Amino acid sequence: MRPELLLVEDDPAIARTVVYALEREGFRVDHVLLLHEASKLLAQRDPPYAAAILDVGLPDGSGLDLCRDIRRQGALPVLMLSARGEEMDRVLGLELGADDYLVKPFSTRELCARMRALLRRGAMAAHGQRQTQQALIECDRAGARIRLGSAWLSLTRREFGLLEALLRSPGKVWSRDALLSAVWGHDAESTDRTVDTHVKTLRAKMRELRPDLDLIVTHRGLGYSLDLPASAPPQAPA
Ligand code: CA
Repeated sequence: MRPELLLVEDDPAIARTVVYALEREGFRVDHVLLLHEASKLLAQRDPPYAAAILDVGLPDGSGLDLCRDIRRQGALPVLMLSARGEEMDRVLGLELGADDYLVKPFSTRELCARMRALLRRGAMAAHGQRQTQQALIECDRAGARIRLGSAWLSLTRREFGLLEALLRSPGKVWSRDALLSAVWGHDAESTDRTVDTHVKTLRAKMRELRPDLDLIVTHRGLGYSLDLPASAPPQAPA
């Protein structure tokens, strides 16, 4: 089955070139010009797209906002496109959870290579995640609970949100801002300290169940990631 991609780009010449190149590489591409059309497609879409390519500057808003929404809702890989000189947006894009980034003008060959790499990474992460999660950690989203080893963690709503976000992409480093945005949304009361405090209590609760593991990793000056060991026994060693 051909991987299906969503392209949001308001420049018709760029869009034409990109669609042509990706389809020649075996992808199927839905192209829209506006953010609100993209949001509608993403909401209706079942099964979900394999990945999304978002232009930053769009007539009805910023692709960065859509990137943030996508990240809040799940693990769809996102590649951002932006005009030359939008360097600030590059940093912002990655903080908001974009997986990769290209500055215009770019070669379509480069775009296709990046897209293939993105999908490969996604497939590997999903596969690895499924295998270890079954044994070690499992997120029951409907029940808003997470099992670690043989027991369910007793989590507050925010602790659950935090761990659920980290679990979506094991190994990925989340900045405090990205976590704030994903878990706390636009709550003005919350700060970087809020994230640190919740990570601390979350770690303590996880260590209570599994003192042999330290799954949440601090990356100095960057943020946090959840690192799943390649193999860990589902039960804590006696
Ligand atoms: Ca544009």
